[in-house]
Amino acid sequence: MVQDVLQTPIDYLKGVGPNRASLLRSELGIHTFQDLIHLFPNRYIDRTQFYKLNALEQNNAEVQVIGQITEIREVGQQRGKRLVATFRDSTGKIDLVWFRGQKWIKERLKLHTDYVVFGKTNLFNGVFNMPHPDMELKTDFDKSLSSAIQPIYPSTEKLSNRGISNRSLSKLVEHLFQHVGNSFDESLSDEILMHNGLISKKDALTNIHFPKNQKLLASAQFRLKFEELFFIQLQLVYKNLIHKSKIKGFLFETVGTHFNEFYNNHLPFTLTAAQKRVVKEIRGDMGSNAQMNRLLQGDVGSGKTIVAFLSMLIAIDNNFQATLMAPTEILAIQHYNSLKPMCAALGINIALLTGSSKTASRKEIHSGLEGGNLNILVGTHAILEDKVKFKNLGLAIIDEQHRFGVAQRSKLWHKNTSPPHVLVMTATPIPRTLAMSVYGDLDISVIDELPPGRKRIKTVHRYDSNRLKVFGFIREEIKKGRQVYIVYPLINESQKLDFKDLMDGYESIAREFPMPNYQISIVHGQMKATDKDFEMQRFLKGETQIMVATTVIEVGVNVPNASVMIIESAERFGLSQLHQLRGRVGRGAEQSYCILMTSHKLGNDSKTRMETMVRSSDGFEIAEVDLKLRGPGDIMGTQQSGVLRLKIASIVQDKALLSLARTWAKKVLKEDPKLSSPKHLPINKTYTQMGKYKNMWNYIS
Ligand code: ADP
Ligand code: MG
Repeated sequence: MVQDVLQTPIDYLKGVGPNRASLLRSELGIHTFQDLIHLFPNRYIDRTQFYKLNALEQNNAEVQVIGQITEIREVGQQRGKRLVATFRDSTGKIDLVWFRGQKWIKERLKLHTDYVVFGKTNLFNGVFNMPHPDMELKTDFDKSLSSAIQPIYPSTEKLSNRGISNRSLSKLVEHLFQHVGNSFDESLSDEILMHNGLISKKDALTNIHFPKNQKLLASAQFRLKFEELFFIQLQLVYKNLIHKSKIKGFLFETVGTHFNEFYNNHLPFTLTAAQKRVVKEIRGDMGSNAQMNRLLQGDVGSGKTIVAFLSMLIAIDNNFQATLMAPTEILAIQHYNSLKPMCAALGINIALLTGSSKTASRKEIHSGLEGGNLNILVGTHAILEDKVKFKNLGLAIIDEQHRFGVAQRSKLWHKNTSPPHVLVMTATPIPRTLAMSVYGDLDISVIDELPPGRKRIKTVHRYDSNRLKVFGFIREEIKKGRQVYIVYPLINESQKLDFKDLMDGYESIAREFPMPNYQISIVHGQMKATDKDFEMQRFLKGETQIMVATTVIEVGVNVPNASVMIIESAERFGLSQLHQLRGRVGRGAEQSYCILMTSHKLGNDSKTRMETMVRSSDGFEIAEVDLKLRGPGDIMGTQQSGVLRLKIASIVQDKALLSLARTWAKKVLKEDPKLSSPKHLPINKTYTQMGKYKNMWNYIS
């Protein structure tokens, strides 16, 4: 009932005409009463505190003052034109300044009348000024329903230019509360409220807009953050459950001869605890009735390949085929080469299929797949072609997931009457909270431990002025028989410029490291795939000592003898990219190095990125810093931004709350998958409405 009132278009609220309504829609996405109720303040100001004008300090962030305007004047010409009002209290004066909307404002300002003024002050030519202040007549301020703790709402420049100030927004919210009478339906169950010490929805909404005191404000924020995260998680967990109940997977009941034979007699090393745990999780999935849909995260070098192989053996032991798909030909070949000897030891048939496979071998592969005597197919996108048909594909593994789209994944699915189990492997660590929010409908496994005995890659940050020393170091390493990567950034907006940077760099390196003593490979995006592969192969075979490249070498390539990674203009790379690039070295027995070259001029974020790289080699720790620097939207791209556009909670700051919300979402759905029990009625209602009113909460895409 109340929910229906809340769906009233915003145009019908007192104080909102057609103009304001369209501004609210376009600027803040507020279409209905409901949307305005959920316009949560960004922050709050204690409005019981007034500053004296002679007590302003240079770094006062925002201040509230009481006084009168004694003079109004227009200053400057044309674009520099502004409206200035002298504002005084008993102790001093400041200038109030408007650069926009001057005519409108000038008509409304009252001289010699008490105002409460609020805003940021700047010191300019020895006088404090406050641009575009929030102001209210003292008499109105005293009458106002709002409490001492003043909410500051999200706004935009356009809104404030058009005279919709924070004050106006507060007023609108006030009108709204008067209109709907503060009777908001509860959306969580008593059980959840009780267990987590949450205040009611009604109290929470009231106190988020009109906090009675700091304690109630904190309770309101906690409750609303929980609710926001809870319903996102409820949706994700629900999707996952539906998926599991609707989509039957192949049941791999036996862990049979191949797996045991390999595990007991051919394992080249002892598995780490993390690898064992993940294998168990995968076995659990494939041994249940549901189709596996699992994301495996593990830093570069954490040993995902062996986990993939063990999983494939389980499929084979149950008379199914398996496939492993990589984003590039080089990677596919590498996988093939590392799996082949293990397969040979077990008498398992494996083949490689890429774009450059010859027709004859293709034919053989096609018939082997359809006949069922080919057990494992490793390859690139070529596997997705319609001609490639399996007899019974039981497990599909996709390496380096971010290079494949969802559409391609679903193509793999349709290679069968029923979908195979799917394992997606990625070396790009995603912070747990982010993964929970974005991939919450997938199950997630993490290898959070590197095999023992790895040497830590020594990482340093050097300025361009030290280049000669760096060249000297390269020379020494090459003398020892090592190989070196030198990577240049690639920025899409100006391919020509990138190319020029790369070529200039290449020329100076070629001068510094001349033939015939040195051989240099170069790989970049404008080369043909076959030429790229040719150069990569030369480097791989050790025929060249230096590989000059753009970021094309980022993913997966394994050259154990390469021990130095030089990253040019490192400030232009993101953290996760730097970490990925560094992962190209440190694959052999030798001590490896990563040198981050930058110019002297570095912004704060760039500095943090360099420091983080030098300090840490933990992909998850680096990903956390990245998340803080860039925010979730930038990291995941716009695709998932719907899930990440939170109204009040923060994926970065409310980690613990996110886990709590997920736990409760799981608990509720486990107990009552249809949300049909009476105690879950409020949750059910809210959940249903989330589907019904698309814009009720922004984050429901
Ligand atoms: P990634 O996760 O990057 O794909 P790989 O599977 O290629 O990592 O493994 C990296 C290297 O570590 C390989 O040479 C592999 O043989 C080795 N390796 C993997 N697991 C272990 C382990 N438990 N003990 C020792 N070496 C291991
Ligand atoms: Mg790998």
